[in-house]
Amino acid sequence: MHTARIFTQIKNTLFTIFETNLLLRIVGLFTYLKANNNVVREHTAELHKEIAERKRIQTELEKSLSLQFATLESTADGILVVDSQGNIAGFNQKFLQMWRIPEQLIASGNYRKVLRLAMKELEAPRQNVATIRELHLNLDIQIYDAIAFKDGRVFERYSQPQRIGGKIVGRVWSFRDVTVHKLAAAKIRHQALHDLLTNLPNRVLFNERLSQALAQAQKSGSKLAVCFLDLDRFKTINDTLSHAIGDQILQNVAQRLTQCLRNSDTLARWGGDEFILILPEINDAEEVAQIQERILAAFKPVFNIENYQLHISPSIGIALYPIHGQDTETLIKHADAALYIVKSQGRNHYQFYHSAINSGSSELLILENSLHHALERQEFEVYYQPQVNITTGEITKIEALLRWRHLQLGFIPPEKFIPLAEETGLILPIGEWVLKTACAQNKYWQDTLGLPSLSVAVNLSARQFQQPNLVNTVTQILSITQLDPRFLELEITESIAMKDVEFTKKVLSELYELGISISIDDFGTGYCSLSYLKNFPIHCLKIDRSFVRDLSNDNHDAAITTAIIALAHGLKLAVVAEGVETEEQRNLLRVLDCELMQGYLFSRPLSAEDTTGLLRESKSCRVNTSFLFA
Ligand code: C2E
Ligand code: CA
Ligand code: CA
Repeated sequence: MHTARIFTQIKNTLFTIFETNLLLRIVGLFTYLKANNNVVREHTAELHKEIAERKRIQTELEKSLSLQFATLESTADGILVVDSQGNIAGFNQKFLQMWRIPEQLIASGNYRKVLRLAMKELEAPRQNVATIRELHLNLDIQIYDAIAFKDGRVFERYSQPQRIGGKIVGRVWSFRDVTVHKLAAAKIRHQALHDLLTNLPNRVLFNERLSQALAQAQKSGSKLAVCFLDLDRFKTINDTLSHAIGDQILQNVAQRLTQCLRNSDTLARWGGDEFILILPEINDAEEVAQIQERILAAFKPVFNIENYQLHISPSIGIALYPIHGQDTETLIKHADAALYIVKSQGRNHYQFYHSAINSGSSELLILENSLHHALERQEFEVYYQPQVNITTGEITKIEALLRWRHLQLGFIPPEKFIPLAEETGLILPIGEWVLKTACAQNKYWQDTLGLPSLSVAVNLSARQFQQPNLVNTVTQILSITQLDPRFLELEITESIAMKDVEFTKKVLSELYELGISISIDDFGTGYCSLSYLKNFPIHCLKIDRSFVRDLSNDNHDAAITTAIIALAHGLKLAVVAEGVETEEQRNLLRVLDCELMQGYLFSRPLSAEDTTGLLRESKSCRVNTSFLFA
């Protein structure tokens, strides 16, 4: 409507000019005719021609103006025209709607007031005012940019000078609302750079942020830390419960971690159960250690997920800039190497990188790779260690202990490879092989060699114990090897037993039904509740060798050992002391009323062949300390 008014004004002015001109010419013509009557006819014809031509021009002009008006109002862009004096020379309705400018205000033609109102809506009003001022000073400049509104809208802005016959007479502004496109683009970028499950930055964004943080640290001479965090035994939870529960844990973990961090820190999901952190602007390692303590503390409360109360702990490896690495790749690699160390040393802790680490961690990687082929390459062997009754001197049981002789690296202790096998899931085929080998060996001793019948004890790892088909597997192995279930004992640690007591009770009862005995290994190191202990169908407690080691020097250890022995007697369970190395320990244990023992004092774990020799010997003469195999 306003555009129409302005165009009508222009049109009227033009006609006024045309008509004044025509009038003057008519007056001139009459004066001339007065003087010269002969040419009247000729001039009248010319006049008619000219009037017709002007009518045609007028129609053309009206047509063109109406076209322009229709175009202006039908465009999706908001348009404003300001003349070189700073007055509003034109606008369309879309402009008013987009900028939420009242009709009365624009009708006043007060450009300053309109500008002031419009600027209030913008994110950066000052910067925009400066841009507009500059454009008014430099009339021939053309710009194309984007402006952001406080309410989240984004407009594309285009401005160019308005020229008439080469002369600049004002400036045309056009605005296009691109909020939807920007939002879609932002969403696409967000998805490309974030993890869908936790909404944390992903690897790509992490690398981007780390590069920026490093450039900043380099400039300001500050330090930063890169921390690699991995959830302990997450794979077990994921496999035994469900992936849906695993997903919820990861989301919960992301929340707990975020709460431990400062705004300037970056937490990203690296993949699986691995998270990675950038802690910029740190003063020293101590400050980083405090943050790690906060993280460890945040994992202390149980995770309540779908009726499960889950204990989850993290292991964290840390590399500091600049001392442990100067670039993204090195820092990530070194934080990862430090993480490997935490994993191999018992988890639930953090570790700073140091130069000695790298060889160790690459060894772990080599081990992990070799472990995959160890079974088929027949690098495993089962060793056997006897348990003895020191009162009668008899061997009462034999514990099967796995040995790995790596073709290149030689003997690798179980403490090193069992956690790796557990983590990778390889413990399942390996554990099954141990069970089969030990049962077959026991059957061979009994039937083929005619040695006295003894139980063979086989260790079960957490993952094996949680396998839903464990009982089936054991049944099958017993049937293949033809070993009487009475001569098989399974050892599970206290912590495995306590993980999910209902599940433990169910599995143990099924194993008990088969006729198998169960012992609780490393007793005293976990937190076994006595009431559960009473309800589990178990036969034996094995006192952890850490208590036996310091029995004579440490009153606490002596007290714990005494209590375990009393507890076992009270519950009518057998009790075995592990790791007995000295006469003194043996004598003390005997005084404490523990008669079953296992340890180097009696025998180290031996190959099957050496064990056969030992069993033959013990058949003829009772075991005593004289057959100490050093
Ligand atoms: P464990 O079940 O507690 O086994 C007893 C460990 O104590 C064995 O270590 C044995 O060699 C060692 N030992 C026995 N007597 C003495 C002693 O007098 N002094 C000292 N210092 N140590 C003694 P090993 O064979 O190195 O096994 C370590 C752990 O690896 C085992 O601890 C067990 O948890 C695990 N392991 C071994 N074989 C298997 C297996 O086939 N399956 C599973 N899941 N775990 C296994
Ligand atoms: Ca054991
Ligand atoms: Ca043990």
